[in-house]
Order: sequence, then C-alpha cells, then structure tokens
Amino acid sequence: QKAQMAGAREERILVVVRLRPLSDKEIIANEVADWECINDNTILYRNTLREGSTFPSAYTFDRVFRGDCLTKQVYEEGAKEVALSVVSGINSTIFAYGQTSSGKTYTMTGITEYTVADIFDYINRHKERAFVLKFSAIEIYNEAIRDLLSSENTQLKLRDDPERGIIVEKVKEEVLRDWNHLKELLSICEAQRKIGETSLNERSSRSHQIIRLTIESSAREFLGKENSTTLAATVNFVDLAGSERASQSLSTGARLKEGCHINRSLLTLSTVIRKLSKGRQGHINYRDSKLTRILQPCLGGNARTAIICTLSPARSHVEQTRNTLLFACCAK
Ligand code: ADP
Ligand code: MG
Repeated sequence: QKAQMAGAREERILVVVRLRPLSDKEIIANEVADWECINDNTILYRNTLREGSTFPSAYTFDRVFRGDCLTKQVYEEGAKEVALSVVSGINSTIFAYGQTSSGKTYTMTGITEYTVADIFDYINRHKERAFVLKFSAIEIYNEAIRDLLSSENTQLKLRDDPERGIIVEKVKEEVLRDWNHLKELLSICEAQRKIGETSLNERSSRSHQIIRLTIESSAREFLGKENSTTLAATVNFVDLAGSERASQSLSTGARLKEGCHINRSLLTLSTVIRKLSKGRQGHINYRDSKLTRILQPCLGGNARTAIICTLSPARSHVEQTRNTLLFACCAK
C-alpha cells in the first residue's frame, strides 16, 4: 500500500508556492503585505478590510515558502529532486509561473545555478562514467523562437525527427566546462533577452525563456566499444511570461484589439498542465503551441514536472496573486 502511494505521488506534478518579500519601493509606497505562510503547506490571505468576501482565504500545496526563505531552500525542497532526476536518465521540467515582478527570474536563475553545481558534483563522484553536460537557451516571443546564445536574430524552426522527437533546428549548444562557464552563458542570455525591450520589462514579461541542460553519459569501460550505450536526458528551466498575460487575454477575449497578442503558449500550457494533473490519459494538445511542443518529451510519460508559483504579497496585487493560486490549485 505504502509503495503504491509513493508511486502514485511520483506521477503527480509537484506544485510549490514562493512568496516574495515586499520590495523597498513597495514599503516606501506604504504597501501592505496581505499574504502569510502559516505553515509549510498553507498560505493565508489576511485582509481584515475584506472579511466576509467570497473567495477562499487559505490555500494548500506540497510546500509553501515564506518571503524570508532563501532560494537555496526553495531549490532543496521544491525543485532538486525533479531537476536531478536527469542524472538517472529521466527528463524533467521546472516552471516558474507568476505575474511580472513576482520573482520568477530571481527564483529560476538561482535554481538553475544550484542544479548545475549539483550535477558537476555528481559527475565528480561518478568517475566510472563519462559525462557530457550541454547547455542551450531559447526564448519564445509571439510564437517565434529565438536563440539566446546567438546574436543573429533569426527565427528557429521546430522539426519532428522520427528518432529524436521534436527538435529545435540549428539551436546553439555549448558543452558546459565549469561553473564560470555557466555564469558566462547565463549573462549572455540575460543580455540577449533585454535586446528589443521597448519599455521596462515589456519583452521579458511577454516571452518565455527555456534553459535546457542535456546530460549524456556512458560507462567508461565500454567507451568506444560496440556494446556501449549512452544514457541521455534533459532538464528544462522555464521562466514563463508574466501570468497577467493569460488572464488579460482571457478577460478581454473577443474584444481584443488588433495587434494585441494573446499569449497562446501560456494558455495552452495551462490546459496541458490541467490535463496532466488529472492523470495523463486522453488527448493532450501539446501541438497547440511552440512551448508545449518543445517541452512535450519532458512533460508527459515518465518525465517529472515541478511548478514554482511566485507571488507578490502586496495588497495592490491581490487579483493577480489569486489568479496564480488558482492556476497552482489546478495543477496539483
Ligand atoms: P519576474 O521575473 O517575475 O518579473 P523578478 O525575478 O525580476 O520578477 O523579481 C522582481 C524583483 O524582485 C527583482 O528585483 C528581484 O531581485 C526581487 N525579488 C524577487 N523575488 C525575491 C525574493 N524572494 N527575495 C528578494 N528579492 C526578490
Ligand atoms: Mg523575469
């Protein structure tokens, strides 16, 4: 019975919530923090002015992290197990979901760095195998894919390969040498992501960033021999577009003005996640967006998934915070 339950648990999507602290700017503007994590699993809305309102005030998840938690702890307890399944040959995906300025990039960058450090550590402790760790990074903006490691502004195409599955054609892959190399590549991505940003946060709030680590390994004693087999798996770190894009396009629906873009990838992702959380059977519409097409091999089947929902505690953000929590509830 117990083993069965553990098995069932593994199938599920891990859903955790991270509350950020009020920023200095918010404190100066006399913002009030209305959300509080009352234990490791429950986040509570406390606004005495709104008592008696109709929405629930307590939300429960696999784990909730208070505003003063360090990213290291969020990694250890909310992402590590899923991210490191890659060393055992299991694909995985970690998402950061939340409104703009809630802490997605802050959280995802830290988690990517901790994962790489742990993978290097693992490689050093397993000398009996030869490992290659590859890094690539793309951005999806208005359903166009751009390489964040390349300064050429060309659009990348997707291709269905009969053997390897879905492929991002011509994407640049770097073999990661060490920690400094990772930092270097991350700063290239950050700079690339800022190019074309018209107003503050405009582009990065509308685009998805996928950082991909692929780890390949083979036993040294069989290297170069016929019976040598390579183990390969991928972990994706997905810094999603601001979730306000999903609710805006939903709420304005048919009245959307020309030129105002519905974030198709974000909407499709919500549908896919909702279906996966219900048990992975039936048709899942991965093909409806670039994001879900690219991630398909790392979402369904044996793959492991974690979603980190980031929240602002500010009273003025309550609508978006609640939307994020509703998404998180659908995913669990
Ligand atoms: P997003 O990517 O969701 O738009 P960011 O990650 O850029 O948001 O975070 C917005 C700001 O808040 C940044 O200045 C970031 O450093 C800060 N921040 C976010 N989360 C935290 C946190 N948990 N602790 C401290 N500062 C944070
Ligand atoms: Mg960001």
